[in-house]
Amino acid sequence: MITKQYKEMLGRKSIIRQLSEFATARGEQIGYENVFDYSLGNPSVSPPQIFTDTMMELLRDSNPVYLHGYSQSLGIPAVRQKVADSLNDRFHMNYTREHIFMATGAAGAIAHALRCVTAPGDEVLIFAPYFAEYRAYINLSGAVMKVVPADVKDFQINFEAFEEMLTEKVAAVLLNTPNNPSGAVYTCGTLTKLAEIMTAKEKEYGHDIFLISDEPYREIVFSGTDAPYVTKFYPNSISCYSFSKSLSIPGERIGYVAVNPACRDAQYIADMCGQISRGIGHNCPPSIIQLAVAKCLDVTSDLSVYETNRNILYKELTSLGFECVKPGGTFYIFPKAPDKDAAAFCEKAKKYDLILVPSDDFGVPGYFRMAFCIDTEKVVRSLEAFRKLVKGENY
Ligand code: PLP
Repeated sequence: MITKQYKEMLGRKSIIRQLSEFATARGEQIGYENVFDYSLGNPSVSPPQIFTDTMMELLRDSNPVYLHGYSQSLGIPAVRQKVADSLNDRFHMNYTREHIFMATGAAGAIAHALRCVTAPGDEVLIFAPYFAEYRAYINLSGAVMKVVPADVKDFQINFEAFEEMLTEKVAAVLLNTPNNPSGAVYTCGTLTKLAEIMTAKEKEYGHDIFLISDEPYREIVFSGTDAPYVTKFYPNSISCYSFSKSLSIPGERIGYVAVNPACRDAQYIADMCGQISRGIGHNCPPSIIQLAVAKCLDVTSDLSVYETNRNILYKELTSLGFECVKPGGTFYIFPKAPDKDAAAFCEKAKKYDLILVPSDDFGVPGYFRMAFCIDTEKVVRSLEAFRKLVKGENY
């Protein structure tokens, strides 16, 4: 018999992927340049030149047997060391390579981190609105996902609900800042309070509660916003990073787990990831990509377009009457749907060739997400469609 758990997932395919496929199909009819496709978080800018140059150099100058061979199961040691050094420089940490595990993007990093600190049946708390894939990440690890309702005023943390839900059954808390889909960046105040509550509960229950911090948007932070390094706030923390968005290389599948040296049993966790990877098939990210990102640890793509797009959209959407928290980072904006039924609103928007994602899968009903990682020229052209949509005019 085929496995029921996965078969049931067929009925819950990603709405984002479905909308993206719709946008592509519509593009074949009217030209993709005329579809205002705000569905998918695929970076719209090129990787930095140094990434491309390094790839070419590696292909041209390295021993191909080494370059295309398996890497060590925790990642190439010199690459892990460079990651540790870069984090130490930037955030005044004391990582060594023993704390770093190279993974296939943030998804791979989270898959490992969850398994390191939870047993089947343990609860993992996440905060709404959350990245829709968390359901799969957590459920397929055997842990039980519990959603802390949103603080819709600013999309920081609803601490009252959090404290109530942080019961003895919780083994880990998974958070994401800067946040997909809200664009909110957790403040020092938020992270301090979170750490205080978790520390007190650890003491009360007499067991560890780990903090897994999902940080693929760490570098996409807009002027005037401070993005504190989460690991600084809480010892039992594991950071999951991805180069997908900072270097615009999501297809290359590379990121890492960084275990806080102050974490309980820190010396085992990266090593345990190596063992976990034997079972979940996420083992050994491509050697060439590990070597290439090691040369790009302190650079990013030109990310300025995202701030430009944020400014244009925030101004226009609020002047059209949408309620909206101003994103401090990422390339997402998360306005409230005018008539509360976000699915109906996004369906209506499709008639204007605006592809918007209803918020239900992000754990907060009544909103929609726009991934504004598209050309600014297209963002500007989409505004007319928005105005017509709001006024109910023909398009
Ligand atoms: N976490 C969040 C919040 C994301 O938005 C994404 C991708 O969009 C991921 C994790 C997965 O990242 P990656 O593609 O690097 O695995």
